[in-house]
Amino acid sequence: MTKKTPSIVRRQSPPGSVSTPVVTPIYPSVAYDSGDPDQLDAQYDGSVAGYTYAREGHPNATIVGQKIDWLEGLAENAGVGTVTGSGMSAVGALFLGLLESGDHVLAGNQLYGRSLRLLTRDLPRMGMSATLTDPTDADAFLRALRPETKLILLEVVSNPTLRIADIERIARGAQEHGVLLAVDNTFTTPRAYRPFDHGANVVIHSLTKMLAGHTDATLGWIAADTQERNRSIYDACVTWGLTASPFDCWLAERGLNTFELRFDRAQDNAVQLADALADMDGVQRVLYPGRSDHPDYERAQRLLGGRFGNMVSFCLKDDRDTANAFFRAAGNIAFAPTLGDVGTTFSHAASSSHRGLSVDERAALGISEGFVRVSVGCEDIELLIREIRDALATVT
Ligand SMILES: *Cc1c(COP(=O)(O)O)cnc(C)c1O
Repeated sequence: MTKKTPSIVRRQSPPGSVSTPVVTPIYPSVAYDSGDPDQLDAQYDGSVAGYTYAREGHPNATIVGQKIDWLEGLAENAGVGTVTGSGMSAVGALFLGLLESGDHVLAGNQLYGRSLRLLTRDLPRMGMSATLTDPTDADAFLRALRPETKLILLEVVSNPTLRIADIERIARGAQEHGVLLAVDNTFTTPRAYRPFDHGANVVIHSLTKMLAGHTDATLGWIAADTQERNRSIYDACVTWGLTASPFDCWLAERGLNTFELRFDRAQDNAVQLADALADMDGVQRVLYPGRSDHPDYERAQRLLGGRFGNMVSFCLKDDRDTANAFFRAAGNIAFAPTLGDVGTTFSHAASSSHRGLSVDERAALGISEGFVRVSVGCEDIELLIREIRDALATVT
């Protein structure tokens, strides 16, 4: 590129340097100077690589996207995933990129709350339809397939009851019927489960959660198993404006550097916390897929290969006053509607993710007023157990 004459308003290229920064620079630039129309043309037709406009791509998104591609074991010839502005924009891009009016989606009935809303309220406005069914029962689930079913959407571990979908049999059924299988892998993370290795056609993440891991960046990622599908999804993201901010990508890249360490530490803590909770007064039930008393323990063993993750749920007495008192007493632990943070967070489904359901509908899922979900973090486990035990002592 030709050297530019310095002036206040005219933009400069960064100074040349034979050395390179160890840390990725943040590239907030919305637009890129392509020099002349021939080069811009070549960039657009793909014969040379170069950024043009940040909604279409920027270095910080590329770098973060490549890390997730690698974590998910994406084959190099399949192309790459797209980083999106949130986990929900990745879910939106799935439908916008791959479906048409008239298509039907079959989905798990305990997906992330906003995904359920998108399926049941928004898809019908666009001429598509969705059926929600329990994916722990593969036979019943597959019976809900219709001739116009184009896509199955699953999460492996459900929120907040931590049930495990029978994804092996559903993946076989999807293949037999020529239906695409998409997996939202946010809860499990590629450290515990890699959906592309098990027949998924599309994988989605909310990077906001454990992958970025510090509750300071809202981002998503979506990738498919073929170049054509990745292209359709990418085009939907660029056209509908679902792509990601450079600063959030930069934060996520920084968080991702320690993802595996954080996962392993948080999971070790979760195993210990689940066992400790089971012995505490005032705890009626503990749900952790790595405990033999979990209803899907054997399936979890098989699918997750011993990596049961950092999410633990437990039940206090079924009333709101007990829940209020418990969360107040455990005030050192954030009561916040997220998961996957480096520190432990609590959430309460009845007042947040599942507040839209009736008491009976919640009861059918096993969610009472005393149901507590813990996203176990990386703090000292002795401290965490002590804080929870002390908080329980004030309500029992
Ligand atoms: C949080 C979450 C989402 C949505 O992600 P955002 O980044 O908050 O938009 C989607 N799926 C699952 C499983 C989630 O936990």
